[in-house]
Amino acid sequence: MPDTPLTADRVVRELPRLGRDDVFTFRCGPDLDCFTRCCQDVSIVLTPYDVLRLTRALGLESSEFLERHTISPFTPEQKIPVVLLRMDPETKRCPFVSKDGCDVYRDRPWACRVYPLGLAEPKHPSAEQQPFHFLVREDFCHGHGCGAPRMVRQWTEEQGIEAYDMMGRSFTDLMLHDFWDRDGSLPPEKLAMYFTGCYDIDAFRRFVFDTRFLDLFEIDEARVEALRSDDQELLDFAMQWLRFALFGEKTLRVKRPVMEARRQATAAEAR
Ligand code: SF4
Ligand code: SF4
Repeated sequence: MPDTPLTADRVVRELPRLGRDDVFTFRCGPDLDCFTRCCQDVSIVLTPYDVLRLTRALGLESSEFLERHTISPFTPEQKIPVVLLRMDPETKRCPFVSKDGCDVYRDRPWACRVYPLGLAEPKHPSAEQQPFHFLVREDFCHGHGCGAPRMVRQWTEEQGIEAYDMMGRSFTDLMLHDFWDRDGSLPPEKLAMYFTGCYDIDAFRRFVFDTRFLDLFEIDEARVEALRSDDQELLDFAMQWLRFALFGEKTLRVKRPVMEARRQATAAEAR
């Protein structure tokens, strides 16, 4: 019988919730007959940090990585673009899988690391509604019940998920922002801004350093230097910038003379 689709509703209603100290039994490895079966015919959503890690691992420009290895299906019902790893159109296999396993293992995406766990995150966490993990069981995956039992926290440590979670925090905040519930739609130029800030790190760096951007905002020198050379700093800054540019939040400070000039221009227009 085929697997029943794992919808958000099913996760919340039916699946056992796992806390960080809960135990599950699972093992993955090349000796299993299902080895790399999970790397085909699958939708892998990439976070900005996933894109950054893969881009650098492959030595590509971010725009080149996005063009070669991702798709971003976008429908009018969708409020924000989502980036997916592009599977081979014929074999439906991930471009990075080989007979030896994952060729980008050190930089594999969050979704590949966390599997067979999933993570459910409520929009507004509270005492009753906390994030939880759950176990994804798919017929093709034969690792369940194999190996030594381990706690969820051990698994996430072994898979190097902490760095991804840390870098993903500000992106999650952006995606779960109340803005999307209120009006929630962005005009094309702001959608492009969102896409660049989240995924096209090299284009975003050019936007910061090759335009008048630094003339407009108060950013101390040490941070400017960090943004120049440190991709993670830049990605974090991009999330801040997007909250400013898309939602009008005061996450950046406009320089005083720029504010003054704008005030005068607005007053002149009103006269
Ligand atoms: S055990 Fe599951 S995760 Fe590991 S290779 Fe097999 S299908 Fe993939
Ligand atoms: S990135 Fe690696 S682990 Fe993830 S689907 Fe591709 S080959 Fe498999």
